[in-house]
Amino acid sequence: MTKYTIGVYKAFKNSGNLRFHKKGTKKSWKHYFIEMDDYNESEHSFGSEWVSSIKAVILKRKQLYKKTFVCLDCETVYTEYVKKNQNESKNCPNCDDD
Ligand SMILES: [Zn+2]
Repeated sequence: MTKYTIGVYKAFKNSGNLRFHKKGTKKSWKHYFIEMDDYNESEHSFGSEWVSSIKAVILKRKQLYKKTFVCLDCETVYTEYVKKNQNESKNCPNCDDD
């Protein structure tokens, strides 16, 4: 299983159901990710975990962004999680080369 970061946000750890958080409660980082099966990418689940601030910085750098792509071969519109600066995708679900 490989984890793909889709978001890292600051949140109150002990917020729970309380309307007001306790005084002195430190903010922590929450890491949201997709856990993908290495052999079958359609098998994936969403998850979240608490991480340290140092790990949050590292994860943010590798974070993926949901972007919309259009396949020029079959004109299918699809979304995919890609790196921030990636502006094209060759993973059209309709034109699967495999
Ligand atoms: Zn296509």
